[in-house]
Amino acid sequence: MPGFELFGEAEKAQVQDVLDSGVLMRYGFDGMRKGHWKAKELEKAVAERMQTNYAQLLSSGTAALTVALQAAGIGAGDEVIMPTFTFVASFESILAIGAIPVLVDIDDTLTLNPVAVESAITTKTKVVMPVHMCGSMADLSALKAICTKHNLLLLEDACQAIGGTYEGKPLGSYGDLGCFSFDFVKTITCGEGGAMITNNEAYFKNADHYSDHGHDHFGNDRGAESHPFLGYNYRISELNAAVGCAQVQRLDEFITIQKKHYTVLREALTDIEGVTFRRVPEGGVENYSFLNFFLPTEELARKAHKALGEAGLDVCFYWYDNNWHYYRKWEHLINLKTLAKFPQEIIEGLPDYSKADFSKSDVWMGRTISSLVKLSWTKEGVASRAKAMSHVITGVLAE
Ligand SMILES: *Cc1c(COP(=O)(O)O)cnc(C)c1O
Repeated sequence: MPGFELFGEAEKAQVQDVLDSGVLMRYGFDGMRKGHWKAKELEKAVAERMQTNYAQLLSSGTAALTVALQAAGIGAGDEVIMPTFTFVASFESILAIGAIPVLVDIDDTLTLNPVAVESAITTKTKVVMPVHMCGSMADLSALKAICTKHNLLLLEDACQAIGGTYEGKPLGSYGDLGCFSFDFVKTITCGEGGAMITNNEAYFKNADHYSDHGHDHFGNDRGAESHPFLGYNYRISELNAAVGCAQVQRLDEFITIQKKHYTVLREALTDIEGVTFRRVPEGGVENYSFLNFFLPTEELARKAHKALGEAGLDVCFYWYDNNWHYYRKWEHLINLKTLAKFPQEIIEGLPDYSKADFSKSDVWMGRTISSLVKLSWTKEGVASRAKAMSHVITGVLAE
């Protein structure tokens, strides 16, 4: 997945442009810039590649989620439905705006189960936030139908699946809003950065203003701008955006490499009795950043994961016991451990997750192993890795 593996001359040349002009900020300083507007250029490239009317760059993927929610008018006490398997940024962004993260079970797609989503809807629900984890997507048409029926927003977290598609549309562009991360370990990187995409002009304008202290960005004198509402600073720097300008041009090259490596690994595991693969919803095409598969039981998955590690096969993940990506280890959320007093809406509205039953998610996560797909593997390296993975897993299953 990580674009940093192929960081090279194009990225350096883009950054050098910024260093040569000396304008490290994305707004203003028109005269000094020598025509370089890296953040604006990257926004144009992202919007074009994702086939949306608008893209707003931000300082991170977490910032993108936060700004997207706020731009759509989500705030204190509103409920946002999110999956039990995701990165912590999902609930962090929801809590950051005073809203309530409502955790919902996943299924064999490793993303939101539409049936569970519908039964979690209350009068306070405003948003359904599927997270396209590990390269593949949620059942977006089912989720969209639910959102339409209940008048909810569909916000796609496509941070781990950039370049994948659903019904021919780039992931992130199917819902009302979509978010990407360009942090250091994502498929394309800015070092730190993120983006929000949408076809909704009002959401875009809100995001543009909100992420820069409420500046309306009319004219070319920052001091003279007005501020239609309160904002914050979620700006990306021009240096980070410059790296992204080079990387976004390489997205399709990266996806092609990932697909090649993914296919070799998958073919090696296909014939092993007991190994099955994560379900990709009909109409979906992965971005191939991970190969995700199930073993017959939790016990066998744990054993296989341990054996893969002992065989030197790094980058295989067992999320069920992982601190960051699965609800079981989110003790800080479950116990609402905060540095200071949180908004009353959250204290009163947050479900008691210490008593929650997510056994339907556990059934899938307990059996899941994900192998990261790296860009820098050689042809021989992937082939021998595939062979070794097959050997180790076959051995565990034969015991
Ligand atoms: C990386 C990631 C984010 C957050 O992105 P940052 O740029 O690291 O803040 C959000 N959601 C998912 C699923 C991610 O993988």
